[in-house]
Amino acid sequence: MSAIFTESTHGKRQLCYLGYRYSLKRKNQNGSEYWICVKCQTTATSYLDLSVIVREDHTHLPDETDKEVLEMRQNLKRKAIEESSPIDLFWFIY
Ligand SMILES: [Zn+2]
Repeated sequence: MSAIFTESTHGKRQLCYLGYRYSLKRKNQNGSEYWICVKCQTTATSYLDLSVIVREDHTHLPDETDKEVLEMRQNLKRKAIEESSPIDLFWFIY
């Protein structure tokens, strides 16, 4: 499964993984990043090799994050083509 990292110019980073969405909690000195689910207290760590380890089980089902992200990405792509202007979101798909 793929992990999707999103980042805005406002510096808010999120991780979408297996249908769950996480907010960035902190970046560790070794380059890994510590995330917490936006809906429960489940935490995850992402590593430089882009692997993701989830620490606990979620107390809820995955949401429609993946679908939502795909739609947002398509809209961004369309917007970029139409306006030929810098987009304020950068998507890294692995
Ligand atoms: Zn959760």
